[in-house]
Amino acid sequence: MGVTKKDWGEVDGKKVYLFTLVNHKGDSVTITNYGGTVTSFVVPDKNGNRSSVIVGFDSLQPYLQKPPYFGATIGRFANRIGNAKFTLDNKTYQLNANDGKNTLHGGLKGFDKVVWDASVPSDSIPSLVLNYESKDGEEGFPGNLKVQVTYTLSDDDALKIEYDAQTDKPTPVNLTNHSYFNLSGSVKNLILDETLWIDADKYTPVDSTLIPTGEIKSVKGTPFDFTTAKKVGRDIDSVKGGYDHNFVLNRKDSTSLEKVAEVSDSISGRTLEVYTTQPGIQFYTGNFLDGTFRNRDGNLLTKHSALTLETQHYPDSPNKPGFPTTILKPGEKFHEVTTYKIKLNQ
Ligand code: BGC
Repeated sequence: MGVTKKDWGEVDGKKVYLFTLVNHKGDSVTITNYGGTVTSFVVPDKNGNRSSVIVGFDSLQPYLQKPPYFGATIGRFANRIGNAKFTLDNKTYQLNANDGKNTLHGGLKGFDKVVWDASVPSDSIPSLVLNYESKDGEEGFPGNLKVQVTYTLSDDDALKIEYDAQTDKPTPVNLTNHSYFNLSGSVKNLILDETLWIDADKYTPVDSTLIPTGEIKSVKGTPFDFTTAKKVGRDIDSVKGGYDHNFVLNRKDSTSLEKVAEVSDSISGRTLEVYTTQPGIQFYTGNFLDGTFRNRDGNLLTKHSALTLETQHYPDSPNKPGFPTTILKPGEKFHEVTTYKIKLNQ
């Protein structure tokens, strides 16, 4: 039980480390301060064999080859901002576009590509605290933003990720973690056979560049209805390109940590429960994984070999007055929590 730290290399003249959080059961999570990236989450399957339920690499080098955000912390604004711009207090801010004409996951050098300051608190529960200060004008965003991400691993295999932030000018903020899950432990088994429940009666439809149209639509009678658990692959052929959509969570109140999604896998007998304080979740079925990267289990990451459940505010909120606001103001405290908990199927 505890936290170990090892040297993992250097980026931008700053030291990169790999931290391993181990709980009393001997299960573990590894996190690097490069990009605030969760590189593994190792838990037993129904036969007691341990493997990582999230995709990743065992060395720093492949993370520098710009993989599609495997395990990373995403900011200053997770997901897309249409036309790489927004207007705030009558001023238009031009961002770096990195996804056609749109900004995706913070721009060219988002929070996933910077080295964070790390500290290990002397808590009774294994934890890690990462800090990063995003400067006024970075990637085009206004205000100096101080961000803290705290990771803890409890004895019931719950990885809790807490996000705190403060700014000195009004700015949009949307923070998430981009872990790709494959509960079976081998990305050879496509996630289409995993069963998913999402507590969302509504979703936000998108245009051809994945920018929300601004509508909030019912999932009833559509392939987006996961209100009763079903296989990920059951209706996927009716969704052009596969799922890559924001679901509007049926949250009871805006601050409490609630269970919002559950995935289960029959091969390993594992279940993932997702709890969050955030209003939305991006469910993405790894549609753009094209075999460029090889997972630590030796297998190529191809279409549908892993899925993400990114808790977040809705995409393009700075340009969508009908969506909950993502503007953080000086004096306000941004605080969101997400827990990914792994257990064995009942
Ligand atoms: C987005 C996808 C994108 C992926 C990797 C997800 O959050 O919704 O469209 O391809 O991240 O960049």
